[in-house]
Amino acid sequence: MPEYISTRGGENPISSAEAIIKGIAEDGGLFVPTEIPKIPRNFINQLCEGDYEFRAENVLGQFLTDYTDTEITTCVARAYGGSRFDNPRRAPLRVIGDSFSVLELWHGPTSAFKDMALQILPHLLNKAMKKLNEKNQIMILVATSGDTGKAALEGFANVRGIKILVFYPDGGVSKIQRLQMVTQVGKNVEVIGVNGNFDDAQNGVKKIFNDRDFNSKLENLGVKLSSANSINWGRLVPQIVYYFSAYADLLARQKIQNGEEINFCVPTGNFGNILAAYYAKRMGLPIHKLICASNRNDVLTDFFRTGKYDRNREFFKTISPSMDILISSNLERLLYHETGDSARVKKFMEDLSTTGSYEIDSELHEKLKSIFWADFAAEDETLDTIRRVFNSQKYLLDTHSAVAWNVAEKYQTATGDHRPLVVVSTASPYKFSPSVLQALGKRLNDMDEFKMLERLHEISEIPIPKHFIDLQSAAEIHTSICEKNEMEFRVERFANP
Ligand SMILES: *Cc1c(COP(=O)(O)O)cnc(C)c1O
Repeated sequence: MPEYISTRGGENPISSAEAIIKGIAEDGGLFVPTEIPKIPRNFINQLCEGDYEFRAENVLGQFLTDYTDTEITTCVARAYGGSRFDNPRRAPLRVIGDSFSVLELWHGPTSAFKDMALQILPHLLNKAMKKLNEKNQIMILVATSGDTGKAALEGFANVRGIKILVFYPDGGVSKIQRLQMVTQVGKNVEVIGVNGNFDDAQNGVKKIFNDRDFNSKLENLGVKLSSANSINWGRLVPQIVYYFSAYADLLARQKIQNGEEINFCVPTGNFGNILAAYYAKRMGLPIHKLICASNRNDVLTDFFRTGKYDRNREFFKTISPSMDILISSNLERLLYHETGDSARVKKFMEDLSTTGSYEIDSELHEKLKSIFWADFAAEDETLDTIRRVFNSQKYLLDTHSAVAWNVAEKYQTATGDHRPLVVVSTASPYKFSPSVLQALGKRLNDMDEFKMLERLHEISEIPIPKHFIDLQSAAEIHTSICEKNEMEFRVERFANP
């Protein structure tokens, strides 16, 4: 039965419910299972026969052993059941041509992969609070540069015992991103623009989390702050499901034989999505290589090639903005699992915070290279990939998924390994329509964002996700803007209206 400990060693083992409530360990480390469960024989065969919800119940049950079957079933039904996803398969696998399949993780309510986890995390958290008799109300605090805020709002809206407050930089998000957030309905949600940029919003939120006096003041009001960011175990574990689901789909369609190894190529930022694939592999899913795809912020490519993680480099704003990251937080979990040595992990993380870099020894480096392969796509390669794949396969990739496709091609060329390869696709092309239209050689001039959706629809004939269309007539509910130094006050007012 897995229990959870900190990657840095400073915490007694706790249950998964406690780990999900705490989010991050008190010593600054991330929660990891003490043991990675091995899947029973026939597990994958059984998954083939079920739908996504069935697959999710079975995979989550391997890790969340302190949740009852009924609790897991309820959480899964609330997240993936009903009509919140626009595809009955939830995470459908599309076989494209002879070489690649694409795992589409963007059929949720915000058309991007964060929905896969943020749709279920609130329910796992709600159940955890009941199990542990948490008397306080939890307030989720988010600073967003656009997409995560909306995905969190969609997940947490109207979940009992939890409130959510999102701060976004006023003027620093696209017109559609702003509309998505300010039109959010729900009794427990608040959205506020900050007069400043994303860093201002993020620093403000960090300051609030670290202000002990303020936090005890809130606790007196019966409110505890928490975050929904990608280091929470409750966000990672739901992502393991779709790797099993993709394999089961390939098997069910007789594209592979049971036990045959396949490769996954994952577009990576914080190393969360690809780490979920690593857990699947460790559980016994037949995966040969995990291909780590970065954009021009290629800190992970260098790490896997040289064994040195070095964030001291120029930061680029790219057309795949959700991967513009220099500190891939979830890498810490991989280092723990591959060393089993929390003192060493702690030292790496201290080095990272004091000097901006750390270096692993050659033994560990070789181990990681036997599991992972890494490369990156430059901006022009990403645009070129979108155009090429659309022209040859009539399949339209978004910018993040195109990074993965491009790196997958590089992998096959470099290694000659032609095992079945699944490209993980993390966003609908509509989510990044300006860059996608540019890739297809279309002039944008000063086309309105909604016009761009229509233009993309004319070209691709893919239906525009309904939530984008509805935005044009939705009421703006959350129109308030605050100054940087007013953020704390706004949190307090939302805690105690
Ligand atoms: C968040 C995100 C990623 C990166 O995922 P990580 O788990 O941070 O590696 C890739 N693509 C899209 C569209 C995203 O939103």
